[in-house]
Amino acid sequence: MILTNIKNLSLSELSDRLKALGFEGYRARQVKRWLYQKDVTLFDEMTNLGKEYRRILDEHFTISSLSIQEVQESSDGTRKYLITLPDEKAIEAVMIPTESRNTLCVSTQVGCAMGCGFCYTGTMGLARNLTIFEILDQVAVVRRDLKDKKKLTNLVFMGMGEPLVNTKNLYPALEILIDPECFAFSRHHITVSTVGIAPEIEKFGDKTPVKLAVSLHATTDEVRSRIMPINKKYPLKKLFESLKKMSLPKRNRITFEYVLLHGVNDSLDDARRLAKLLAPVPAKINLILFNEFPGAPYKRPPDEWVLKFQKILLDKGYVAVIRKSRGRDILGACGQLAIEKNAA
Ligand code: SAH
Ligand code: SF4
Repeated sequence: MILTNIKNLSLSELSDRLKALGFEGYRARQVKRWLYQKDVTLFDEMTNLGKEYRRILDEHFTISSLSIQEVQESSDGTRKYLITLPDEKAIEAVMIPTESRNTLCVSTQVGCAMGCGFCYTGTMGLARNLTIFEILDQVAVVRRDLKDKKKLTNLVFMGMGEPLVNTKNLYPALEILIDPECFAFSRHHITVSTVGIAPEIEKFGDKTPVKLAVSLHATTDEVRSRIMPINKKYPLKKLFESLKKMSLPKRNRITFEYVLLHGVNDSLDDARRLAKLLAPVPAKINLILFNEFPGAPYKRPPDEWVLKFQKILLDKGYVAVIRKSRGRDILGACGQLAIEKNAA
């Protein structure tokens, strides 16, 4: 019999499987705590379950853990983890500390199929989706590595891959991340970033209560299709229709990410068009400075130019933040994640 990796089950699958094995209803809660809060590696460590229960669990399931292959620390404290998967492929997760929080940037795929021209991950192609366990265990291994020194407070799904083409595993993983008996993250402290998969955006608010960020990066279909091929399938009109249809809790805003590429999408007309485009949705804007990578065909604008671009948005009443890049010296910043040996 092939044993099931217990961390690959959604919460409802876990309780169904345990029920079918004759466990009382409350046992699922105990098992969840051991797996995700206490991070045990053996069923025998689940000491509030009787011997017989532990034997049954052992007979049907395994508890797996991912392992860290390498950690690089940037001069600014950012830590980049190279994590090995069960099939020897590898992904990266990046921990970004600030005074008030410690954010982990999580991957959802090995590589990415979307092929955005400004993104290093995009140059790798897609190898495969991550499983529920592989999404969750990035958080677990980093938590283990940090021990009591630092506590992870926030998660951003901005690592390798496009989360909204792996919703089958993303949503069950998010449920476990916010469950008070599992990882217990606040839903306000988790953000999923998407390239703009319109049909999935429409459903996002009904599937999960966490926050959404959209990688916009252009204000016309002409430019967006050039730098982000997905725009040919879901052009701006479709993208914004899906955002308007998405259910959004009161006072929540959607974050729009905008990587400034000098001479491509950073004209002052772009800034004005951006303000207009976002008017129908509750929006906030993150202006991202382009991070270079080997062979990158784009340049970041001069700082004064970025401030001019930002001022137009601020004058129109938007919250527009210039996102400082962290971990650039270790290629740990946005869009710099790529692992040679995975290249498709
Ligand atoms: N696939 C998702 C999430 C991962 S990318 C998405 O595209 O949203 C996370 C963020 O990093 C996105 O906003 C992406 O556009 C941005 N990014 C990609 N390459 C970058 C680069 N070279 N410099 C700065 N940001 C980049
Ligand atoms: Fe994929 Fe996001 Fe990179 Fe585009 S920016 S290639 S969607 S990871």
